[in-house]
Amino acid sequence: MTTSPSNPPTSKDSSSIFRRLDSVAPASDKAAPAGAEAGHGLPTNLPDLADRLAALNVQADRWASPDLQAQLRATPSRPIDTVLCNILDENSEAPLEAHVAAEFAPDLVGGLEALAKVSGASRVLAAIGHDCPQEQARRIRDAFVGTRIVPIVLRSDYPQPNPVLLIHQITRRHVRWGQPPTDQGIVLLDAAAAVAVGQAVNLAKPMMSVPLAIHDYTHRATHYAIAPLGMRWRELLDAFEISTELAELRAGSPLRQIRLSIDDVITGGELMLSASWPEPRVVPDPCIRCSWCVEGCPVRIRPEALLDAAQQEDLYTAGRLGLDSCIECGICSYVCPSHLPLLKGIRVLRKSQTGSRKR
Ligand code: SF4
Ligand code: SF4
Repeated sequence: MTTSPSNPPTSKDSSSIFRRLDSVAPASDKAAPAGAEAGHGLPTNLPDLADRLAALNVQADRWASPDLQAQLRATPSRPIDTVLCNILDENSEAPLEAHVAAEFAPDLVGGLEALAKVSGASRVLAAIGHDCPQEQARRIRDAFVGTRIVPIVLRSDYPQPNPVLLIHQITRRHVRWGQPPTDQGIVLLDAAAAVAVGQAVNLAKPMMSVPLAIHDYTHRATHYAIAPLGMRWRELLDAFEISTELAELRAGSPLRQIRLSIDDVITGGELMLSASWPEPRVVPDPCIRCSWCVEGCPVRIRPEALLDAAQQEDLYTAGRLGLDSCIECGICSYVCPSHLPLLKGIRVLRKSQTGSRKR
């Protein structure tokens, strides 16, 4: 093991699956900002709640839990009627959301109830995966008894945890990639974000650490940690004896192809990681028009045509082909027998689209 000197001994509560990693001043050392102390009443509107949460550093912006601050500050085109908690896991081998929801159930309930109260939502739903570990599912359901939170069990096969698909599955409302769910009357957040909201509004506890899962494909093992914001991924790998020389680190499902540098720091972004052997470089072959990418695409667009548009820098055609509908799940690239960089092409198009909108 190559334990970093900046990563002192760690602790693990014997009743918790999470190992607590301490290398930054613990949350209790940080004073709550003025106006955020426990006992203060709830704000009466979402932007004020956003301010309260920002003062306590509560943030969440990841694939399965859209930017929380942006949702609370958006001016929705319809009233908020639903708070939806996403407890589906991208990777059933690392069910982080299920463990967070079960272990911090009172905070989760507190966070969801507070959001419902401030937003005026009449219903609070919690999506639980069909493959949620039994014990965790029982603890989550028990915590909802006597509250108005309604658990909904769904098939959670990848990429179902994506908010676009999840919202459509439960409410039949259509949200585009990048659009805040509040535009469709929904506040959506994952279990980790709901817990942070609950701890902030009920205990005035700042968010100084996040729950994480790391699935180590090299040893077929999953580790769970509560790690301080600002810690380097390198320290996390060291703590679990995962070789920093051999492992390639990816955020979320490996299909999404989000590589992380071990020198990046932990933020309120992606919380589920995988460490695997580096992939061999492959040279793509020409498209053989097999349509596997089209058949595999969960939003039924044409990834191969989008790649053509990316190669020709044709944003107009890309828009007509449904670029805005892509949820960046990476299934098209994964199934392509010619190893074409379909997801990469889509990301290039989106980057140019953002650039052209700014001009
Ligand atoms: S990444 Fe590919 S498969 Fe996934 S939604 Fe986008 S085009 Fe479809
Ligand atoms: S899966 Fe690959 S080879 Fe087949 S149509 Fe799509 S891009 Fe072409």
